[in-house]
Amino acid sequence: MSVLGSVVHWFRLDLRVHDNLALRNAINEAENRKNFLRPIYIIEPDILKQIRGNRLRFLIQSLHDLDANLRKLNTRLYIVRGKTSECLPELLKKWNVKYLTLQVDIDPFYIKQDEVIENFCDKNDIFVVKRVQHTVYNPQTVLKKNNGNVPLTYQKFLSLVNDIQVKECIEIKKEISEDCKSSDFNSKSYDVPSLTEIELDESSDFKYPGGESEGLKRLLTYMAKKQWVCSFEKPNTSPNSIEPSTTVLSPYISHGCLSARLFYHKLKQVESEMRHSEPPVSLLGQLMWREFYYTAGTGTENFDRMVGNSLCTQIPWGNNKDHLKAWSEGKTGYPFVDAIMRQLTQEGWIHHLARHMVACFLTRGDLWVSWEEGAKVFEDLLLDYDWSLNAGNWMWLSASAFFYKYFRVYSPVAFGKKTDKDGLYIKKYVPELKKFPSEYIYEPWKAPQSVQRAAGCIIGENYPKRIVDHDKVHKENMKKMSEAYKINKEKKALKRPRSD
Ligand code: FAD
Repeated sequence: MSVLGSVVHWFRLDLRVHDNLALRNAINEAENRKNFLRPIYIIEPDILKQIRGNRLRFLIQSLHDLDANLRKLNTRLYIVRGKTSECLPELLKKWNVKYLTLQVDIDPFYIKQDEVIENFCDKNDIFVVKRVQHTVYNPQTVLKKNNGNVPLTYQKFLSLVNDIQVKECIEIKKEISEDCKSSDFNSKSYDVPSLTEIELDESSDFKYPGGESEGLKRLLTYMAKKQWVCSFEKPNTSPNSIEPSTTVLSPYISHGCLSARLFYHKLKQVESEMRHSEPPVSLLGQLMWREFYYTAGTGTENFDRMVGNSLCTQIPWGNNKDHLKAWSEGKTGYPFVDAIMRQLTQEGWIHHLARHMVACFLTRGDLWVSWEEGAKVFEDLLLDYDWSLNAGNWMWLSASAFFYKYFRVYSPVAFGKKTDKDGLYIKKYVPELKKFPSEYIYEPWKAPQSVQRAAGCIIGENYPKRIVDHDKVHKENMKKMSEAYKINKEKKALKRPRSD
């Protein structure tokens, strides 16, 4: 056991040095107490099995970058491997820790970890400091302003935060003193694993490399395009452009490589200089959607499930495993849907309206599969996977919560054509259809055999036949939705106290 005590900052969804109050608290405490400073990240064995290539690579790259940025401050990242509930208490003892800092994370996975660790700290006289720094506003403050209730509409949410002053970002200005370096500072056993060590390809060129430095660079590149920022209107961006039509800052914000508050202040600064679009469609409006879902996720039990979730309409979804598989592998026979799902698998990011398309298709639109199943696939594949944003948006798209015009269904044929008549996006991600004429690119089953042969792709052989007939199934689904809404309404009426 070290004679001198240690101060630990435990990184989780805050993989950055900028605007990290909990980290700064740890640094100040180590300096004041003349303790060792040990910023840690725990790699759970299960995580390596659970999350797939793209997300894992993004995480590992972010950890390398975090380590490099900490070294610029004369400290480092200590990677700890093991189950948090076992290895962290052991280390807190071994390192004689008296002060632990961390960010508040609302994902139930972290809440469960926190309970175990805080309990241990309580018994062992370790002071724990937790900071809300993953959102612009503190979701608890917003809930309190609404008498403890979740604001059910975006406009209501905006009215609640309207007069909340957003704090300035935190900076860590000076290098940490040599005294705070422990004797095992240079130990290789705490190094961040390389990509090859965890069997990921190191040589490829990645479209969205992980890390704080990349996140900040991307933010500044976009903020320099002031006219673009100020005229941004989400519905006018394209789900199927070859290069993204929105910022793709989401993977950086979700991992905490980029501070949401820094993004907020930068946007405010740009907007102060010229006329600009407004929420909900503006870029600042997008960030507020994130805040809205965080508030809802914080205030709702079982937010990521249908049963036991007070916000969620109970819908008797089906359980067609073949359909779910075809959807997740991009083999539904609807080229636009398949292109989106294949882009997601290959690159880990898809446009918001592309998410609309495939989420609607899987649920109320076509396949009648539960939104929870879709959310699991997204959790596996999205670089920007975020517990509350994923669940909240899936509920929206399946018309289970927040959005109730269930009869507004996206057509897997017409929707993509609006922004990509010739199907260039489809040709990129579904190469089997590369030589198909534009006329049939969204409905290849309609192409005569001669056209299919000339394009080198026979439908049913080289590319799947469509698994459902959209025109038919969506009408059947609307009847089921109408019935489910009716039953939910009746149940709610029964629960309401009678006034007589
Ligand atoms: P931009 O348009 O550039 O917006 C800037 C930022 O605002 C984003 O980075 C994001 O942090 C926030 N934002 C934008 N749109 C939304 C939105 N609708 N809800 C909440 N925040 C938003 N986003 C995630 O970050 N993680 C998820 O797990 C996730 N799952 C989703 C699941 C479904 C079914 C749907 C329809 C949407 C989901 N989204 C999720 C929301 C949204 O699609 C992404 O945040 C957005 O596409 C990210 O791209 P961008 O950074 O270019 O966004």
